Amino acid sequence: MPRPTEFRTQPLTSRARRTLLKAGGTLLVSVFASLPARAAQILAVRVWPADDYTRVTLENDTDLKVNHFIIKNPERLVVDIEGIDLNPTLKELVAKIQPNDPYIRQVRVGQNRPNVVRLVFDLKEEVDPQVFTLAPIGEYKHRLIFDLYPVNALDPIAELIKKGEWARDDGMTVKPPAVVAEPEPMPTQPDLPASKIGRADKPSTLSRMITIALDPGHGGEDPGALGRGGSREKDVVLAIAKRLKAKIEQQPNMRVMLTRDGDYFVPLNVRVQKARKVQADLFVSIHADAFVEARARGSSVFVLSEKGASSTAARWLANKENAADLIGGINIKNHDRQLASVLLDLSTTAQINDSLKLGKAVLNEIGGINRLHRGDVEQAGFAVLKAPDIPSILIETAFISNPEEEAKLTDESYQNQMADAVLNGIKKYFAKNPPLAKNRMT
Ligand SMILES: [Zn+2]
Repeated sequence: MPRPTEFRTQPLTSRARRTLLKAGGTLLVSVFASLPARAAQILAVRVWPADDYTRVTLENDTDLKVNHFIIKNPERLVVDIEGIDLNPTLKELVAKIQPNDPYIRQVRVGQNRPNVVRLVFDLKEEVDPQVFTLAPIGEYKHRLIFDLYPVNALDPIAELIKKGEWARDDGMTVKPPAVVAEPEPMPTQPDLPASKIGRADKPSTLSRMITIALDPGHGGEDPGALGRGGSREKDVVLAIAKRLKAKIEQQPNMRVMLTRDGDYFVPLNVRVQKARKVQADLFVSIHADAFVEARARGSSVFVLSEKGASSTAARWLANKENAADLIGGINIKNHDRQLASVLLDLSTTAQINDSLKLGKAVLNEIGGINRLHRGDVEQAGFAVLKAPDIPSILIETAFISNPEEEAKLTDESYQNQMADAVLNGIKKYFAKNPPLAKNRMT
């Protein structure tokens, strides 16, 4: 996987030297062993600020040993990194903290004692730091990650309301059907709206707000697929998702939540959790496809499969998309704990049936604006589609690896057409499958 090259400042001299040594065999290795121990090198520093959490990545040429602790009044996170010397790349971290970073006020970097560099993060609020390392993968060397999560995590719906992005059901709140042995007398007030009347014999297809979770794939450390012209999947899918969000917000009966609204990484299971927290009616993950051969082209729609993939290509693609967590970088210890508590062993048969209906409606609309890669909705084990209670689809909007389609993906009018097509598909799905009444917790 490629890295955001604009952050790379350190030439790969040490790597080049090691490659030479390797090539030289045992003689050179013994020469190397007699050299004084060389300090590890920080190759790149990256900062990904977001409301969810701010991530700081130090990419280096070896697995580093770190200690970290919190100091109170004022809040500071102190990190001691062993086996490195302060270098210009590491010093750049200071300038990379933006004034509007939600959690970091500033960072100070210094040589604490020989071979130990100390980073002091002055914080804007109490954080729960997660410090972990990632083994080399794709184009990345070793990564040391600091994820700063707020101790007082925000409620997702309260946040959306604050931003003015959450239309409430006021005026058409759905009450659960009353469970009564005898029919209730009809209300005498003529102005009481019908939807306020809880009646057991009324089918639960009342009008209410439909909540759509939009999931722009990748982000942050994970650029997704790359176009030959330099565009990145994470950017084009966010652009399409934002256009679709604006269009959904114009619908009188729909509201929308983005699983990410900026350039930062969201682990796959967190995307699912976010959708479940807002009790989404649909989950729509937006991606761009890639293949080694530039001529591969066309849009596709995928849903989950419980019994194997519908094709080898679909399985390959699901594996590739599921690798996002490895590239984007998750704290495995935490991840396992979360996974154990949700999602496992829940049947998704009903979800998949609904997802297929939604997928067909959307694929049909997309067929009107772009060539389809295959004529049918495909199935495979995409981790991000595993919410057992939310119909979920993954759209590969086009092949970013195809120069012609890469140009489309970065084109405003194609992005709008794609957003329109997905919205029309969603509307047609709901026209045939009206949303059921829900007992909402909001
Ligand atoms: Zn993708």
